[in-house]
Amino acid sequence: MTVVTTIPQMRALTRAWRQAGETIALVPTMGALHAGHLALVEAASRECDRVVVSIFVNPTQFGPNEDFTRYPRDLDGDLRALTGLGVDAVLAPSADGMYGPAFQTSVELAHLPKHLCGLTRTNHFGGVALVVAKLFNIVQPDAAVFGMKDYQQVRVIEQMVADLDQDVRIVRHPTLREPDGLAMSSRNRYLSPADRAVAPTLYATLRAIAEAVAGGANDAARLVSEGRARLETAGFVPDYLAVCDPDTLDDVVTVAGPVLVAVAARLGATRLIDNLVAVPGVAPGPAHPAH
Ligand code: AMP
Repeated sequence: MTVVTTIPQMRALTRAWRQAGETIALVPTMGALHAGHLALVEAASRECDRVVVSIFVNPTQFGPNEDFTRYPRDLDGDLRALTGLGVDAVLAPSADGMYGPAFQTSVELAHLPKHLCGLTRTNHFGGVALVVAKLFNIVQPDAAVFGMKDYQQVRVIEQMVADLDQDVRIVRHPTLREPDGLAMSSRNRYLSPADRAVAPTLYATLRAIAEAVAGGANDAARLVSEGRARLETAGFVPDYLAVCDPDTLDDVVTVAGPVLVAVAARLGATRLIDNLVAVPGVAPGPAHPAH
């Protein structure tokens, strides 16, 4: 596993692999790796001959009042976690290496960022699209693996790839969960023991909505208001709870097909997100670690 910190180093490696006829999969991350990230890495190694994991806490996707400075960073721990998983290179560039002083280009999508997390994190998805476009240009992967926990992010990347004719296959990976259903996240470590005990209610609320949809409930506003009440009673401060179209993320009024049920809510100072796809007439799968 080679650790590369500069873009020319990375290009030299991937050029050699391509010339040898090998395919490349990329897993973009911000580090502080947990089992969810490692499952993406394992999926990547099934997709292609070579695997690159990028570790970069991308400043352009954090708002001025967000947790950029206190986001967990542990490169040594991350490298240990990746050992033995068949990773060929870890790309860990510096912020200056990615964004020089004259940097001035943006990547903006017109519609998808105007929903869900984009309502409060207004520049977030522009920053995500920008850094992922750069990583695709640097690594030129055949495939890139993204987790469904960040569903809106996956849709933004899929749309960017389609719109800009980027030659990379986007692989969606299911969300890895703790045994009690809480989606794994680098931010879970900030939960107090009391908040950690409450946190599984987030996924339980989504599942209750999926079960109601499976049983024929179709009034989205009612599903949302009942779900919000449950979250607030448990102690969450919801940013949003939405029942929406899985492709456009537009709100749904009457559920008549598969819908994305997505939530962001604060517990103390920690903001958690989660989602699932609910299907009329189809009970949600077992509360399994990968749904
Ligand atoms: P992050 O470093 O948290 O920005 O995430 C890097 C990648 O890992 C993204 O594609 C995330 O969607 C994915 N990811 C994060 N948490 C999970 C999880 N619990 N299960 C599956 N994928 C995840």
